[in-house]
Order: sequence, then structure tokens, then C-alpha cells
Amino acid sequence: MSGGGAMGPTPSPAGAADARKRREAYAEALRRAADFLREEDDFLVVSHLSPDGDAIGSTAAVGLLLKSLGKTYALMNADRPPEKYAPLLAGQELTVCGEQPPARRFRAAVAVDCADFERIGAARRCLAEDARILNIDHHPTNEGYGTVQLLKFDAAATVQIVFDLAETLGVPWTKPLAECIYGGLLTDTGGFRYANTTPEVMAIAERMLRYGADGNALAEQLLEKMSFSQVMLLKEALATLSFTEDRKIAWMSVTRDLLASVGAAEEDTDGLVNIPRNIEGVEVGLLFKEKEPGEVKVSLRSAGRVDVAALAKSLGGGGHVRAAGCTVRGTVAEAERLVVDAVKAKL
Ligand code: 5GP
Ligand code: MN
Repeated sequence: MSGGGAMGPTPSPAGAADARKRREAYAEALRRAADFLREEDDFLVVSHLSPDGDAIGSTAAVGLLLKSLGKTYALMNADRPPEKYAPLLAGQELTVCGEQPPARRFRAAVAVDCADFERIGAARRCLAEDARILNIDHHPTNEGYGTVQLLKFDAAATVQIVFDLAETLGVPWTKPLAECIYGGLLTDTGGFRYANTTPEVMAIAERMLRYGADGNALAEQLLEKMSFSQVMLLKEALATLSFTEDRKIAWMSVTRDLLASVGAAEEDTDGLVNIPRNIEGVEVGLLFKEKEPGEVKVSLRSAGRVDVAALAKSLGGGGHVRAAGCTVRGTVAEAERLVVDAVKAKL
């Protein structure tokens, strides 16, 4: 599918040829992905650790596609998804794989929204050694693991690619499927506000609304609603807001002690990184979350000048140019020093 359309700038002949080649390669990848789903019978559908709205929306949407095709499947994640994403599962069960050995191993899998295969975490143990994997993703840092790759780096969300796959398969549109797709678009574009909100995104969203997606209810549920513990955490986390001298880098930090003191869960940190990111003049906003003693998850958000995907990748993580993440070893203070210095070097 083209991202530009008639209103875009006139591409150079070489640019137009490149764009056509990319479109053809994507159409071919869609056909191969559709064949993969038709050929196999029993699938594990997995996404990344600490799943977000796009991860859950695309997991559930692939499940609905498989159901339409009459296949058996299980939806799985290594981490329990935040409660607010439950409506996106469209009534399907999602197994959180625990530490106990898996009941059985799948020979075919669909990994959605996973920039690298390690991001499926413990769910890997539920796959046979020689499992065939369909890799559906929009992260530019995806290096193409799996048997079949369905990658589109200019897609706003993985659900946008799953939309194309649904069209390729010709499965009937239903309200639950439309809500999975809409929910993933809504969360990965920050409510249709981020730079990835293209005409194509809006065109797909429009169709999902026509197929019955309740846009208002989904926005309330996925974006607006805050739990009590989330607000209490926000109140305390704001006290940690720090800046470099030139105020081009801003960050907040959440330790395990802070979480415990306000009775907040890990998922209550969702969206906190937008506070440093949204401050006028800030080029890079950061959030440091202590996962375990000595292990800190870092969220990076850029106003556009710094490619945080490249930066996160150099620290063992990945993501998008304007939104990326990584996990570093050390105390929160050490992580702050390491990452803030790395961002300074890029500015
Ligand atoms: P967040 O900061 O919200 O966790 O993640 C922002 C973006 O970066 C998401 O697209 C997410 O998938 C990606 N991301 C976050 N952490 C990691 C990581 O450790 N490795 C990789 N490859 N991507 C990550
Ligand atoms: Mn995504």
C-alpha cells in the first residue's frame, strides 16, 4: 500500500521506482504470510514482554484471523498484560506463561510487534526447536528473524500490517476484529497525534469505525482512564523530574520502593515518559524504571533531532526513531548517568 498518495510531493523517477519495488515486495510478503497461515494448522501467537496496546491488539487480531480460517491456536505472552487491555482480547483467552514447563510445544508461531525474537521472553519455551515462525512487525530495528517475514517499517503500528493481512486473506470484518485493529492504532499513535499518524492510518481507522469499533469507548478505556494508584504514582514520580542544564534532556525515575510506597503496579508507569517528552524545548525525554535490583528499563522519546532507536540499539535495545527502549544493568543513578551522557553525545 502506498503511504503518499496523490497529494504528496512528486517523487523523483528513481524514488518512484524504489517505492514501487517496496510496494511489490510488501505485497509478496503479504501473500507468503497468508500462505503460512493457510498451510499450518495449530499456532502459538506471541508478542513482546511488557505488552502494550499494539502488542495485545495484534495478538488478538491474529487470533481472530486464525479462528476465521478454522485453525486452532493459543495466544500467549511472557508477561501479564495491563488490565485495561482486556477488552482488546475480544473474549479470547491469553495465557501468561509461567515458570513451570510448558504443557506442549507448538510447531508454528506468529510473533507480532517483536523487534527481536528475544523479546518474546519465556514464551520461547513453548515452541518446538524447529518451529516455523511468521514475524510480523513494524520496528525498523527488526532484523528479520523467523521463517516468513512480514515487515513494514513505515507502518504506524503492527495492527496496520495485520489489517493488510486480513484484507489479503479476505476474512469477513467483524466488530471485535475492528476493535483490535483500532485499539492498536489508537495506542501506538498516542490517540492519532504522533508523527506516525498518516492518511493511511486515518483511512484504516475510518473503516474500523464503520465495521462497528466504538472509538469513544476505546479511547476512554485505553487512553483517558487512570487508576487511583496510577495518579498516586504520578504525584510522586513528578518529584523526580530532572533536567540537564540546557533543559534539552528531561527524565523521571521510578524505583521499586516508590512503586511499593504508593501501592502501584509496573503497568501504572505507562505513559509517564510523555511528561518529560512533552516539555517545551526538551529534545529527549527519558523514563527510568527499576525492574529488579541492578536492572533498569529505560524508555526514550525524541522530539525528532535524536534517533533514539539507534541510541537504544547501541545499549542493547531497539524501537522506533522517536520512541525506543532498552534495559541496562546497574543502579537507577548509574543508568541515568549512562543514558543521559549517551543522549548528550548525540545532541
Ligand atoms: P517503551 O519505552 O514504551 O517500552 O518502548 C518504546 C518502543 O521501543 C516500543 O516500540 C518498544 O517495542 C521498543 N522497545 C522497548 N524496549 C525495547 C527493548 O529492550 N528492545 C527492543 N528491541 N525494543 C524495545
Ligand atoms: Mn507497535
